[in-house]
Amino acid sequence: MASPCILINTPQPERGRLVCRDMAGGFGYETGKAVILPPLSLIYHGLALQHTRQILFYDLTLYPEREKELLHTLKTISRPLIIATAAPLTVNSDLEFFHKIKDLSPLSSLFVKINYPCPETITLINRSPAVNTILKGETELIIKDIIKDHTSTQTASHKQYKNKYQADWPRPDLNKLPAMDPLFIQKHRYRYILLRDRRKKLFSYQSSRGCPFPCCSYCPYPVSEGRKWRAVSAEKMFRDLKLLVVKHNYRLITFRDALFTYNKKRILKLCTMIIKNKLRFKWWCETRIDCLDKELIENMAAAGLKGIHLGLETGAVRELGPQAKPGLDLKKIKNINKLLQAVHIRVHFLMLAGLPGESKKTVVKTFRFIRKFKPDSLGISSFVPYPGTTLSQKTAAAGHIKEKNISRYNGKNTIAATDRLSLRQVKEAVRFLQQAQSLNKKRSFTKFFLVILINIKLLWWRLF
Ligand code: SF4
Repeated sequence: MASPCILINTPQPERGRLVCRDMAGGFGYETGKAVILPPLSLIYHGLALQHTRQILFYDLTLYPEREKELLHTLKTISRPLIIATAAPLTVNSDLEFFHKIKDLSPLSSLFVKINYPCPETITLINRSPAVNTILKGETELIIKDIIKDHTSTQTASHKQYKNKYQADWPRPDLNKLPAMDPLFIQKHRYRYILLRDRRKKLFSYQSSRGCPFPCCSYCPYPVSEGRKWRAVSAEKMFRDLKLLVVKHNYRLITFRDALFTYNKKRILKLCTMIIKNKLRFKWWCETRIDCLDKELIENMAAAGLKGIHLGLETGAVRELGPQAKPGLDLKKIKNINKLLQAVHIRVHFLMLAGLPGESKKTVVKTFRFIRKFKPDSLGISSFVPYPGTTLSQKTAAAGHIKEKNISRYNGKNTIAATDRLSLRQVKEAVRFLQQAQSLNKKRSFTKFFLVILINIKLLWWRLF
């Protein structure tokens, strides 16, 4: 057998700062301790290699204390193949870590896996003498060939790569991906705050990549996964889920697709197979309002769906909607929200403050929208000008990007102003929208007074 392959989910950038490198299309997103998901793109490389090599898996984001054990292992293996994760958000600390492991194991072959095509990040990794090869984008199906000669159109060996940047790398057929049977993952306790059950283990699955919708002007997913939607068939999805649920005993599954229900027929077929075969697990997915209807919602609920992320971005549907979420209107949102509530599916709205065009008026509208629809939970962040998106270029050209250091583009920091809101006002807008959701949650005597107080504050803010 060939030398072992060590898969490393690189440690968190600093203590208490948890980043999921797969999120935001692979740009990385700061999640906090309540969300630590399996590094799927790294795991797929392990799946492709596990029958020809011994795989040692170290998720140092989940278990930072295992770093000592890894460093000890590196001393005992003469020429290991190492595949480690990196992302634009964490690249500086990732590089420090790569130097550390290369110092300990100078004869190792270090492959760095990066999903987001950020030229700045790739150039930095490329310059590092510790890194042998960069695995750009979707390299799961060609990893064996890459290992043989370190070159392919999708890799960037640091000797050959001269800042050339191939944004539109080839997209594999997802049905050819290896079976989801991660034999090298043992007792890892991943967690997701919205889908919790102490007695049950959680894993993730991604059944599609790419997105053709026009809201891609700000979205990082089409930048890394492409504008064409590609998916695993319902049959393969069911086989993979069966392995995860029955063989590996993962009873909680988070689907990591940005657009899970784009093909209604595929999901209906999957739900039928889950129900017919009594495959019991709880799951969570993400999609758009206009990719849902009554039949789909009822079938997904019957197949174990517990909650759903809905990307809405703004409550100012008329003013910002045509740019943020074309095709959505309040009637559709109301209708789908009602259908989801009827079958007890938890609704998580994903919203942004500070999109280009945002004003105090649109913030107030979004505040009222959150109060009206009362989602079970809300993810609100400031607009991030992700490199490679058209809105990032426009925002930069307008002089609104106030933070150039991309390691601060973590979804928590406010990066850009708008024509009508300063950076400080965008931060205030985020706080108001968070307050709208906390008012939805409160059930106390003081709520009445809080509602009045926050509404007065909002009115004051709107006027001055
Ligand atoms: S539908 Fe979702 S994933 Fe697709 S471009 Fe819009 S925000 Fe991104």
